[in-house]
Amino acid sequence: MAVGTLATVKSLDPRELREAGAQMILANAYHLHLRPGDDLIARLGGLHRFMRWDGPILTDSGGFQVFSLAQLRTVAEEGVEFRSHIDGSTRRFTPESVMEIERNLGADVVMQFDHVIPGQSDPASARDASERSVRWLARCLEAFSRLEPMHGHQQSLFPIVQGGIHDDLRREAAAAITAMHDWSGYAIGGLSVGEAKPDMYRMLDVVNQALPSDRPRYLMGVGFPEDLIEGVRRGVDLFDCVAPTRMGRNGSVFTSDGRLNIKRAEYRSDERPLDESCDCAACAQFSRAYIRHLFVSDEMLGMRLLSLHNVHFLVALMRAARAAIAKGEFDAWSRRWLDRYHSRSDILA
Ligand SMILES: [Zn+2]
Repeated sequence: MAVGTLATVKSLDPRELREAGAQMILANAYHLHLRPGDDLIARLGGLHRFMRWDGPILTDSGGFQVFSLAQLRTVAEEGVEFRSHIDGSTRRFTPESVMEIERNLGADVVMQFDHVIPGQSDPASARDASERSVRWLARCLEAFSRLEPMHGHQQSLFPIVQGGIHDDLRREAAAAITAMHDWSGYAIGGLSVGEAKPDMYRMLDVVNQALPSDRPRYLMGVGFPEDLIEGVRRGVDLFDCVAPTRMGRNGSVFTSDGRLNIKRAEYRSDERPLDESCDCAACAQFSRAYIRHLFVSDEMLGMRLLSLHNVHFLVALMRAARAAIAKGEFDAWSRRWLDRYHSRSDILA
């Protein structure tokens, strides 16, 4: 999923996303509730119509933002009180109010409201947050079932498996969630938030063994190429990450041979496209030398072209992964892909 937190995949319009092969995009209930307001979007026909994207949309509930971005006031069993990061006003999120916001927005997939904690949290805080998230899920389900869809299509509520980097907590959360309801998909949260990679991969192994294999699994907030491949290897179907557009705005480019930074002097007269095997609109038309010139001159087209290329690159990567799975060749394909990708990254950060 391309990330369009504020109902826009930064600098790209929906037609360009479709042409890049993007299938689904993600928006954020916390941000859209604060501005322009989910009630306004509801009056204007819902998120699909508001942003003119007719493909599937997923809204994150804002759990992550409330606990990371906003100035927290209180966390209680009932819900969370916080200050808006935009105007400082006091707001209150409960599982019930977040379900109302996500009904207003009208995304196809809506996430539960969950209690998110830092990646390295101790077992006691991780248990507290994970168990609260399961209790909040039951309230989300109850509220979601009571509220009718507003915009003429069904929505799916996805639960989020939390539990930090603790095997037993992850297993317990997955068991409680699968016992609660027959969900149409499952999300894995609280990873890629500062923990070591081997811990993340271990949690994916644990959680994916515990979730039903015939439902999509969504690994939240993960989206670098190597993480996508390691996630797919462990059974993940859906990903989202701001990396392709955020990196694109900083001059950083995904290529089959690793990442490169277009601002470096070595690309000053380089007539090759960003990636010779890419067929995006940026690679089809422009040289590295030209795009470097755009960046050095602070021209906005440079950021747009790199955002477009990076989104296209990840979408194409996932398409290739699906083809390799269908042929029963995922292991060999992914080893070859990663070897080449790691062969010469000229930036590592
Ligand atoms: Zn390209």
